[in-house]
Amino acid sequence: MVTLKLIVVGDSGVGKSSLLLRFTDDMFEPYLNPTIGVDFKVKKMVVDGNLVQLAIWDTAGQERFRTLTPSYYRGAQGVILVYDVTRKDTFAKLITWLNELEMYATRSNSVRMLVGNKIDKPDREVNKREGLQFARKHSMLFIETSAKTRDGVQCAFEEVVRKILQTPGLWDK
Ligand code: GDP
Ligand code: MG
Repeated sequence: MVTLKLIVVGDSGVGKSSLLLRFTDDMFEPYLNPTIGVDFKVKKMVVDGNLVQLAIWDTAGQERFRTLTPSYYRGAQGVILVYDVTRKDTFAKLITWLNELEMYATRSNSVRMLVGNKIDKPDREVNKREGLQFARKHSMLFIETSAKTRDGVQCAFEEVVRKILQTPGLWDK
């Protein structure tokens, strides 16, 4: 079995914990308490015939104080960078998160996925084309999601794992 470390980063409130909860337990909490968010989840999945065990790290609220530690980033094969499509400020902050990644990520070839979350909401401030352009510019995969309606959530994680499995030297049996 392949064991992979994925991390979820992005501004506070964009829906990182909600995406994880949807993915691992197929649940949604409209009033998810940021301080009770999980910080670590394990999930097995089969991607292209490979049984994969994912260890997915969530920030449990520290991102508000911008104190993600080097150990959070260390060894991650996959990075899921999330913004909220209804909050332009969370999109503008993506570059700060990429800089932090450059500083701490210990695998230069890690797979990066940009996720525009909360597409179920009517008050959108960032359109799909803007997200796609940013992702292309920074060599990231891209998807839009809703943790509330499930849209894109499974696909986001699956695509990251698929790309990791296709990257030589990024994982071993
Ligand atoms: P985090 O700080 O990035 O972990 O964000 P949370 O997962 O705690 O989500 C912040 C708030 O946004 C919570 O009230 C969630 O219920 C809500 N939320 C998260 N994802 C979605 C979504 O896709 N759609 C809607 N409508 N609300 C969401
Ligand atoms: Mg959270």
